[in-house]
Amino acid sequence: MAAITELQGELTQQFRQIIANDQLSQAYIFAGARGTGKEALAQWIAQRLFCTNLQDGMPCGECAECKRIASGNNPDVLTVRPDGLSIKTEAVRNLKEEMSKSSVEGHARVFIIEDADKMTVSAENSLLKFFEEPLPGMLIILTTTAKNQLLPTVLSRAQIINFPAPARKLVLAQLRAGGVSTHLAGLIAGITSDIPGGIALAADEEFTNRLGKILGLCSLLAKGDSLAFPYIQTDIVKQVTGRDEQRQVLQILGLVYSEALSRSYGREPLVLPDSDALTELSRQSSAQLANALAVVLEGTGLLNSNVAFQALLEQLVLRILKGSAA
Ligand SMILES: [Zn+2]
Repeated sequence: MAAITELQGELTQQFRQIIANDQLSQAYIFAGARGTGKEALAQWIAQRLFCTNLQDGMPCGECAECKRIASGNNPDVLTVRPDGLSIKTEAVRNLKEEMSKSSVEGHARVFIIEDADKMTVSAENSLLKFFEEPLPGMLIILTTTAKNQLLPTVLSRAQIINFPAPARKLVLAQLRAGGVSTHLAGLIAGITSDIPGGIALAADEEFTNRLGKILGLCSLLAKGDSLAFPYIQTDIVKQVTGRDEQRQVLQILGLVYSEALSRSYGREPLVLPDSDALTELSRQSSAQLANALAVVLEGTGLLNSNVAFQALLEQLVLRILKGSAA
């Protein structure tokens, strides 16, 4: 895994400066996609506060304190994370108990709530008093991939730090270092910046099956073949169970079309390795490809509405077929 100093170099430097200037706030919300290093930075900050062997204002990562935090064994650094789909009320209750015990002397204590949007509204509400009147030395960090799902009252009482997606080059290099083939690394880096998630995806047979089916669909679309329509039901929808996978199908379609568009302008291959589908698609006119790409992106926007996935995809394919016949 990339070190946080590499993954989020700027943010790490900012916090190094903030802590050096003794300007650390008492409550933060770390917001950003999975894989952007939110939890790692929270841990880095905790290590920075406890490290006994600071190196140029950075935690050493080697001393007993740094190691204890890395292994989750420092009683003054408490982390709560979801158990399954939600953060259990009991876990929040325990955390609050610990928070109340924080000393008045201002001895540092760090409380990290990962995926904080998975707390119940009442649990979130019950934490408010700590946001309003934090005890000296108390640092609360909430991480979230969906900050809009946090209560406005919580959002307004914490400092929000937005985590940018790591550079594509870095994600690519990390995927390659994790054993992902060149063949898949570009595509996966186009779908996610979550490196462990991406490595798992590359090893997932269902994912490679799905990818094959999507490229099959692209081949049919490239030929303007109306069989693309029934193919959705027989070959695509069956391979897709959850919302994440639905999104993935549209992401891959989008990648294939933007790659084909880029190639139709004579540019070098971008993220995808050569495939028959891509070669065939690249023969279409730039206008046709741009139209298809717009249709796919529009479809992605509808994903969270109440339209059934099959209907959405069918509509999308019909529009692309119509566009390429024009
Ligand atoms: Zn250390």
